[in-house]
Amino acid sequence: MTQGNRATKSSGACRVDVIVVGAGFAGMYATYKFREMGKNVAAIEAGGDVGGVWYWNRYPGARCDLMSVDYSYGFSPEIEQEWTWSEQFAAQPEILAYANFVADRLDLRRHYRFNTRVTRAAWDEEAKVWRAIIDTGETLEAPYCIMATGPLSVPKDPEIPGIERFEGTLLRAQKWPHEPVDFAGKRVGVIGTGSTGIQIIQTLGRQAGELFVFQRTPSFTLPMRNHVLEPDYIAEMKRHYRAMREAMRNNPTGGTRPATSRPFFSLPPSQRREVMEQAWINGGHTFLGSFADLLSNQEANDQVADFVREKIGQIVEDPKTAEALKPRGYPIFARRPCLDTEYYETYNLPNVHLVDVSKDPIIGITEKGVRTESGDTELDMLIFATGYDALTGALLAFDVVGRGGRTLKDKWKNGPRSYLGFMAEGFPNLFAPSGPNGPAALANLVTIAEHDVDWIAEMVSFMEANGIRTVEPTVSAEEGWMALVLSMAEKSLIRKANTWWVGANVKGKPQGLTMFIGGFQKYRELCAAAAQDKASNFVFDRAAQSAAA
Ligand code: NAP
Repeated sequence: MTQGNRATKSSGACRVDVIVVGAGFAGMYATYKFREMGKNVAAIEAGGDVGGVWYWNRYPGARCDLMSVDYSYGFSPEIEQEWTWSEQFAAQPEILAYANFVADRLDLRRHYRFNTRVTRAAWDEEAKVWRAIIDTGETLEAPYCIMATGPLSVPKDPEIPGIERFEGTLLRAQKWPHEPVDFAGKRVGVIGTGSTGIQIIQTLGRQAGELFVFQRTPSFTLPMRNHVLEPDYIAEMKRHYRAMREAMRNNPTGGTRPATSRPFFSLPPSQRREVMEQAWINGGHTFLGSFADLLSNQEANDQVADFVREKIGQIVEDPKTAEALKPRGYPIFARRPCLDTEYYETYNLPNVHLVDVSKDPIIGITEKGVRTESGDTELDMLIFATGYDALTGALLAFDVVGRGGRTLKDKWKNGPRSYLGFMAEGFPNLFAPSGPNGPAALANLVTIAEHDVDWIAEMVSFMEANGIRTVEPTVSAEEGWMALVLSMAEKSLIRKANTWWVGANVKGKPQGLTMFIGGFQKYRELCAAAAQDKASNFVFDRAAQSAAA
């Protein structure tokens, strides 16, 4: 099919060795990895090019709040030396440029079909292949299927009546136009104050004629303190990349941010205050690296939340606005912590207006703008920054049919279940790197993606060396993994906030924290241990095994 593939056609299907779905960081790496193993890879991507979430999210102010040196591939020392990051926290254009650089450098595009969607993927037990139907009507078949569909790839509109009536310009953060958008002199509304909305608001407050922020739940956001990377620092970093990658693999965040074992109350009050002040000054996610128990000790969490609320009160001049911006009713860090650049200061600008829709609910969208209980706000442009059907949305957006005709939708009707986050009982040879029961959104997704793909590739190599055609986790391995994931989650304060982390943002979605909260390092150790004890944890294609024996 795709130029560069040695695909063969039989019975109407295009036969390859590995199907990869997605051209985000996991999909690109999987494509490269399996190609380097001599496999014939057919890769599919709904977007027009590589980059995944960074291809789509071109909204003003889009930026990653993980450090650029962390949020990059570690598998290629050459790429590390050839690519130079310009800022501590890279903006979307630079991250997309990096994805493009990697795709060019490794010649990945020849494996991809862009602007193409998989509409169904089904396992053929007899032929031991996955058949993926794509929206051109063609079918791909391969023994292995890698669903690198990403945890944040299915955008979600707000459930507000009348969206189609709006006569102004409607923009969605997660499907932003490729052409520049001019906000000068315009009345702009933003719905959504998560990580995305915050970045848009702090940027457009300084560009739009009038900016109206429709806030239902305020997020806690901390200063990013972004800066340009100095040549000396870059040179040093390039000399020490190997050691840094090793440190990342052994870090709960999968990044270089230092971890701590210090409990909050192990310090006297004045010292705790000093540490918090310093964390505020240092910026980034320093708080989380300053105390170990902020997500397990409610009292410690309350004190940090109070500290941040106090800062909000000091920055925002209008007391009523300040009060509305102070998050209450859920623990800090239980909703994705955001990093900002003068977000709270934005509300001191005369053209920026906060509409607290928790008190004055949105009733609908009209031809002219947003209608709340107290009246209408007329707008030229309306932006949705209302998030995603996250973690499971992309894998459940089409039918994935496993052994015996069982669908993933059925298997996951009460929430996602898998082994190690990326394999599911009943779905042989199907792998979903950065899947919903791994560390997913709680650690560095690039580190997780690389780890998962490496693990999967090793499993495939093992199988081929032993004449095994299929692998899936045993029922008990999967049950054990899920019991571990859920028992760890029970202790976390994350469960106390209504967020996409727990599925609360999508009506009818099963609720619960199903991500592995034990940190990347522990996750990696458990994945390694699982591979050590293959006989207990996996069902292999026994017929092929005995034929090989
Ligand atoms: P999000 O965190 O799910 O936030 C969605 C926002 O939309 C929430 O404030 C939500 O309010 C609001 N909303 C939804 N429906 C609404 C309605 N009907 N009326 C009023 N408000 C409504 O989504 P996101 O901001 O796109 O972020 C998703 C994730 O992407 C982040 O958590 C992060 O992992 C990633 N991300 C990262 C960065 C970064 O690295 N800096 C940037 C952007 C995104 P409620 O909370 O009240 O429902």
